[in-house]
Order: sequence, then C-alpha cells, then structure tokens
Amino acid sequence: MNRSRSAELFETAKTYFPGGVNSPVRAFRSVGGTPLFIKQGDGAYLTDEDNNTFIDFCLSWGPLILGHNNTRIREKVWETINRGTSFGAPTALENELADLILTNNRFLEKIRFVSSGTEAVMSAIRLARGYTGRDKILKFEGCYHGHVDSLLVKAGSGLVTFGNSSSAGVPKGLVNDTLVVPLNRIDLVKQAFEEYPDQIAAVIIEPIPANNGLLQVSKEFLFCLGCIARKNGALLIFDEVISGFRVGFEGAAGLYNIAPDIITYGKIIGGGFPVGAYGASREIMSRVSPDGDVYQAGTLSGNPVAMSAGIAALSECLKPGFYEQLDDKTRRFTEKIEAHSQSRNYPFRIFRIGSIFWLAFTRADIRAAEEIDPAGMDKFKVLHAFLLERGVYFGPSGYEVGFVSAAHSETDLDTAAAAICDGLDLVYGQ
Ligand SMILES: *Cc1c(COP(=O)(O)O)cnc(C)c1O
Repeated sequence: MNRSRSAELFETAKTYFPGGVNSPVRAFRSVGGTPLFIKQGDGAYLTDEDNNTFIDFCLSWGPLILGHNNTRIREKVWETINRGTSFGAPTALENELADLILTNNRFLEKIRFVSSGTEAVMSAIRLARGYTGRDKILKFEGCYHGHVDSLLVKAGSGLVTFGNSSSAGVPKGLVNDTLVVPLNRIDLVKQAFEEYPDQIAAVIIEPIPANNGLLQVSKEFLFCLGCIARKNGALLIFDEVISGFRVGFEGAAGLYNIAPDIITYGKIIGGGFPVGAYGASREIMSRVSPDGDVYQAGTLSGNPVAMSAGIAALSECLKPGFYEQLDDKTRRFTEKIEAHSQSRNYPFRIFRIGSIFWLAFTRADIRAAEEIDPAGMDKFKVLHAFLLERGVYFGPSGYEVGFVSAAHSETDLDTAAAAICDGLDLVYGQ
C-alpha cells in the first residue's frame, strides 16, 4: 500500500505543529509509523491522500454515529451556511436543538451549548463548585474528561489520594483539590467523603468509561455514587461526552436509569461539528450566568452551522429502531470475531456496550485501568498495522475503543471481521 503522500504531508506538518498534529493521539506514536492524512469520508469509508480506502471504526473518535458525509447533515448545514455562519446573537436553531434534546431526555430541564467536550466538563465543574460552595472534585482512575486542568490528575500512591498531575503546567493548588479513587470501589468513595467532609463539590465519572479501553463499571456502583453524593451534599456529574446519544438517546443515564445532577455532552451532539453541552435541573442551571453567578460564555457557542449538524444528526438518532439496529449489527460483528478467537483459544476478547467496542488482548474481566496488561499494546500494534494493509482503520492506540455507525453495512462489517480474524491469527502466531 502506497502511503507516500501521507508521509510527505506528515514531514511538513512536523515543521508546523508539535508532533505534526493538532491533537496528540493522531501522531501514531503508540502504534508507530506515519499517520494517514485523510482527504475524504463517505459513509463507513475513509479515503487518504494516496487514494487508499479504509472501513473506519474510529469515526472521528465517536461523533460520526451516522458515518461520514451524511446527506441529511450536509443538506441542513448547507441550508444554514447560505445565510451566514455566525452572528453572536441567538438563533432559532439553538432552540430547535435544545428542544430535541430536552423533550427526549428525562434527566435534564435546561442546557447550555459550548464548543467542545472539554469546555462542557470545565463548565460543569465550575457550576458544581459554584452551586455547592465547595472546591474539591472526586474523580476516578481510568476516566478521561478532556484536558481540564483540575482533571488532568492521576492517582497517587495511596488508595484515596490527591493525585499527581498527568501534565506539566497544572497548578499544584488545583491538583490538591482533586481526589482520585479507583473505579468500582464504593468503600473508597465513602472514605473520601469521611476524610473530607463538606469539601467535595462533585463526583465526576464517565458512566461508561471508554477512554482507557472499555472498563466495566457496575450499575450498582453508579447508583451508589449518586446516593453517597446526595447524602453528603455533593453533585454527581455524568461525563457523557462519548456515551451520550451513543448507547441510546438518553446515554448511560437512560440505559441504567440513574439520574445524575449534571450531564456533559460532546462528540455526537454536534454531528461532526465542534459542539459540547452541559445540562441539569432548572434549579442547578439557574446558577449559570446571566441568571446566576457562575460565569460561562463563548463567542461561537450555539454556532448556527454546528447546531444544524446536531439537529440533523440527533433527528436520525430519534427514529424508531435506530439504536436497536446499531446494537444488533455491532453485536453480530463482535460475536463473529469472538467465535473465531474462541475456536483457536486465543487469550482475546471484545468488550462491548451498544455500538462501542474494545479489542482486549486478555481473558480477564477488565474493571480498572491498572488491570490492562501493557503487553497487549504490542499485540495491538501488530494488529493495527496489519489492518491498515487490509483497508480497516482503527484509532492508533490499543487503549482506544472502536465505534460502529449507522452507515456500516453487514458486508462492511463482515469484511472487517474477516480481516480482524486474520490479524488475530498473525498476532497469536497461527
Ligand atoms: C472526548 C472526551 C472529552 C473531551 O472532549 P473534547 O471535545 O475532545 O474536548 C471529555 N470527556 C470524555 C468522556 C470524552 O470522551
């Protein structure tokens, strides 16, 4: 497969951008080799600058639940662009997207649109702090919440710890306000609240942790988090930037029927454009400016072009049977690969929730980030390179999940499953 044009573009990009990219994982550092430069996407397919095509399971890291270049999104976006692209004043499109979301979600009464998942989480944290008058945040090892200062914190050496920052440039003061606890350890959550009474503003979690593999979190654990937070006067924040509109229109909150106090969204909500959002009850949202004293603003917030894409995307998601179909075909796809792996007795499995799946080089249940065997990443590297040659594109890291879109046909999935099975034979030396 010729990738010379991508290689050339990457050399040039390295002179412009740190690592040659505008977001680190795109640099292919964990799988090696050169990132593909993409020139087009259609349905389930990506085409790179060397005119190679790939069945895509990265899907822009989650947003493209309808696949690439969806006709309805494109038409709605054109219609809007023809009238201008940004006004810095309210538009009917913001009402339309809010109405679509709020009338179909039992867990929210008001919402605020922002421009990225990170911005949504950052704003939700500020709102929780403003609402409770407290500073500390409790998060979980293995969950990712964007590059918010307070949340670029990983576990320290103890079990309930103030973490260490996972990035240079994060002020110590902020790190000292972030507690990090392992997932699925409700005893340690209780302990954190006992050690820091009346200090924790919010517990934030990815209810379906999908940024360090796909970690298995029990519904009971999520439910108990809400109870403990409530009992201690803290808020529960579900970061649904990936799971929102992905595992169902109401996301993980709907799937598990658990009501968090604040929910954050990103990715799918913008139909492939930069949109994020946070929402809560009327009472909590009344604290957001200009109604309340928690300041939050954005020049391009609620951008009409982005709103149009969101409206078109979410309207498709609301059609009867949308999630059932996506779920069914993803299940059939992963079952085929697992059947092959089991017949060969490979130490391999696929974790799946709805149309999110993760290839795991293990037989074990993985319920926490530290249970992931780093040796699996070497296997992923081999598989990733093999799959590119076979025209199947996965995000370039074994810690990343894959997604299936409504645009993937049974044939696409069969072709990809066959390639993955052959790739496993290579990885496991058969
Ligand atoms: C992607 C992601 C974010 C960050 O969103 P950006 O749009 O990349 O800023 C936050 N939280 C979760 C759970 C995510 O998956």
